Amino acid sequence: MSLKLCQGTKCHTYNTKDRLKGMKGNKTFQTRRRSSMYYGTGNFCSMQCYNDWAETFIDKAIDHFGRLTEPKHLTEHNAWVKTYNWDRNYENRTYVFRNGITKEQRPLTEEQFRDTNYTLNTGE
Ligand SMILES: [Zn+2]
Repeated sequence: MSLKLCQGTKCHTYNTKDRLKGMKGNKTFQTRRRSSMYYGTGNFCSMQCYNDWAETFIDKAIDHFGRLTEPKHLTEHNAWVKTYNWDRNYENRTYVFRNGITKEQRPLTEEQFRDTNYTLNTGE
């Protein structure tokens, strides 16, 4: 199993026991190394490290991949959301597509509800 390094810019500056490595007289706090991490799609050991990275690089990252300059629009063609009419008794639950703009509802089977590829949306 290969270990990944936390990408947090300040990970090594947090004084925790598990980051302190090395022989006596030659100890250093080091960036965490783990087989799996839970934050930032597996790149960060903690939310703190994720936020440290974001604070340092987020503007560069957004400029690199394209900063939004106009608001996006959710139209009635892509405002369908899968939901269900909540019922205390699971058996009586009815699934529907609900359009957030027109408020129209269309029936949905439980199978269609669970199928993540099934949608009525035709746009982004
Ligand atoms: Zn970290």
